[in-house]
Amino acid sequence: MKNIIIAIDGPAGSGKSTSAKIVAEKLGYIYIDTGAMYRAVTLACIEAEIGINDNEVAKLVDGIRIDLVQSDLGQRTYLNGKDVSDDIRRPDVTKLVSPVSAMAYVREKMVIQQREMGLNGGVVMDGRDIGTVVFTNAELKIYLIASIEARAERRLLELKQKGFNYSLEEIIKQISDRDIYDSSREISPLKRADDAVVIDTSNISIQEQTQKIIDLAYQIIGVN
Ligand code: C5P
Repeated sequence: MKNIIIAIDGPAGSGKSTSAKIVAEKLGYIYIDTGAMYRAVTLACIEAEIGINDNEVAKLVDGIRIDLVQSDLGQRTYLNGKDVSDDIRRPDVTKLVSPVSAMAYVREKMVIQQREMGLNGGVVMDGRDIGTVVFTNAELKIYLIASIEARAERRLLELKQKGFNYSLEEIIKQISDRDIYDSSREISPLKRADDAVVIDTSNISIQEQTQKIIDLAYQIIGVN
């Protein structure tokens, strides 16, 4: 079977990671969550108590190691050898991740690592700039969108399951602030690649959205 690269981009809560994971599993591909890498850098900044400015963050990025490890529990994120998969989802990390990931040096380092991970294909990579920057030659590019209400409700549920209590209004504000930051930054802003297939996940089930992506992948791979 041909090992292609599937790039899935879109705003927060659009269903990227859920569908990317299922698609990867169905195709026997590796799932790579690039947001986890930017979150790990942000966690490292918080732990080191450094100022969020280009100089300090660049120095820190040069001294850390981020590994995405495939395990029975799914993809786990390691920072300097420690499993930080839960910590990177903390609200303080989410709050700071957009300014950290807007920094040129941080992006440069992460993109190098992401390109290495996808070098041989057979990957489903999700993020904000996979189809536009990291793998402009990806055989399949998907851009997921959904209404702000649908996205906030999903995020609210996820956070509730992790024991965090927020109101829907708070989540709507957090998500839209992050989207505005991610879409308006100078380097690699969140945007649809011209050749990406847009899927609106507001009113379709996870099963339907993943099936659409798998069907498109099969057309390219040549399997029915
Ligand atoms: O996907 P997730 O919501 O976990 O990503 C967290 C943040 O990481 C995004 O809001 C964005 O600022 C940044 N990110 C990015 N480029 C990517 C993936 C994530 O800038 N490829």
